[in-house]
This record gives sequence, structure tokens and C-alpha cells, in this order.
Amino acid sequence: DGTIRFESVAFRYDADRPILKCVSFEVPAGRTVAIVGPSGAGKSTVSRILFRFYDVAGGRVTIDGQDIRDVTQASLRHAIGMVPQDTVLFNDTIAYNIGYGRVSASREEIVEAARLAQIDGFIANLPLGYDTEVGERGLKLSGGEKQRVAIARTILKSPPILVLDEATSALDTHTEKEIQAALGVVSRGRTTLVIAHRLSTIIDADEIIVLEKGEIVEKGTHHVLLASN
Ligand code: ADP
Ligand code: ADP
Repeated sequence: DGTIRFESVAFRYDADRPILKCVSFEVPAGRTVAIVGPSGAGKSTVSRILFRFYDVAGGRVTIDGQDIRDVTQASLRHAIGMVPQDTVLFNDTIAYNIGYGRVSASREEIVEAARLAQIDGFIANLPLGYDTEVGERGLKLSGGEKQRVAIARTILKSPPILVLDEATSALDTHTEKEIQAALGVVSRGRTTLVIAHRLSTIIDADEIIVLEKGEIVEKGTHHVLLASN
């Protein structure tokens, strides 16, 4: 389960400027769909609507057939995991950052999530340049390592739905490839919505949607879109 459907969605922040105009697409349960488009196209707005930070002005959004207006924000946050472009960490250990908000998570579960995200070598270290009471100096994490912490959080949370909003856009090409591979493992079997401004950052999407100025201008597979652009 976890099928997401946008049906003729219209949205505007300000009365005089439509941001999404009749946007319709589906992310079938367990599949990966990517939304690509230039900055300002409305991609992140799609993700904000999914979390119900805003409600749509026209059309509707459903998850497994249920209108999300009938779902609380808390249960949406529970069902949807999000990896943003820049993961903000607490000035505490990596284990704390992975387990934050998961009061029921055991130490073993946190360590296992860290292992799967390949950040376990750092597990007891502090993410920032931070002096502990014993005067130890923590590590400063790179962008890629921070994304691995976000991935470990997602593994621990194990949500049916995953939103990756420019999750690798801030990384250098080599690190981007590594993090994409890790995200590929996490997204397997989950309903995944990938948001990116470059087609080249998309790997393995079942369908790619091109959004421009709030309208879907193209839908297709990787091969088809690469051939036509
Ligand atoms: P993308 O993610 O494709 O870069 P966004 O969804 O962030 O695009 O934004 C789409 C449009 O909505 C942009 O023109 C942006 O300036 C505008 N916008 C975003 N957030 C707000 C807001 N809170 N109030 C008014 N306009 C906004
Ligand atoms: P978690 O549930 O992973 O402990 P939070 O309680 O911080 O994380 O947030 C709940 C969910 O909402 C998470 O998947 C998080 O990434 C997502 N979320 C938080 N802030 C935003 C935002 N500004 N835009 C989109 N999603 C967000």
C-alpha cells in the first residue's frame, strides 16, 4: 500500500498567481516516480501539499484512495519519510540523531540502521565540532555523511512512503553516486517520490514527470526523455 494520487490538483499561495495548474499523476504503491523541472516549477510545493502544510484549492490528493484532507498531519508524518537537500543535525551524537523521535528504538536497532547506511564507523562521534564534557572533539560531517544519517533515520523509521527532495543535489558527483546507491536500497519496495531539478540526478525511476510553471509538460521513462531532450 501507499499509492499516492494527485487528481487535477490546483494550488496557489497568492490569489493572483497559480502555482500548480491541474496536476495529475500517480505513484503506484512500491514504485518510484520522479518530478523534474526548473527551479520555481512547483516541485517542492507538491511535497508540501503531500504533508498537508497546505491544502489544495482544486482537485484532490489521495493516499490509498483516502483524501488526505481526512488524514491528520501527524499520521502523514508517520507514514512519509523525507530526505531533504540539507539534513540539519542536532549538536549531539550520530546515534542520537538517528534515533531522535523514535523513543521505542533500541540501541541495537539504531546501530543496525547506521550499519545499513554505512555510517556506523562514526556512531559514537558528534556530528559537529563540539566539545564534550570530557574535552573530546567531535567530527564535522561532510554533506554525504549527513545524508547517510538521514538515510539511517529513514531505515529506522521504515515508512511506507518516501520523499526525496533534491536529496543529492548539494553533493559532488562522486558522493552523489554513493548516496544515490544508498537511497536506491532504502526506496526499494517503498512508494517513492523523487524531486530533482536535473534529469541526470534521477536513477531508477519507473516514471519521470517533467513539471514546468506548475504544469506537467511531459511524462515518460528515462530513455524516452533522454532521447527527446
Ligand atoms: P521548485 O521546488 O520547483 O523550485 P517551489 O514549489 O518551491 O518550486 O515554488 C514554486 C513557486 O511558488 C515559485 O515561484 C516560488 O517562488 C513560489 N512560492 C514558494 N513558496 C511560496 C510561499 N510560501 N509564498 C508564495 N510563493 C511561494
Ligand atoms: P521524523 O518523523 O523522521 O522523526 P520529524 O518529526 O522531524 O521527523 O518530521 C516528520 C516528517 O515530516 C519527516 O519525514 C520529515 O522529514 C517531514 N518534514 C519535516 N519538515 C518538513 C518540511 N519542511 N517539508 C517537508 N517535509 C518535512
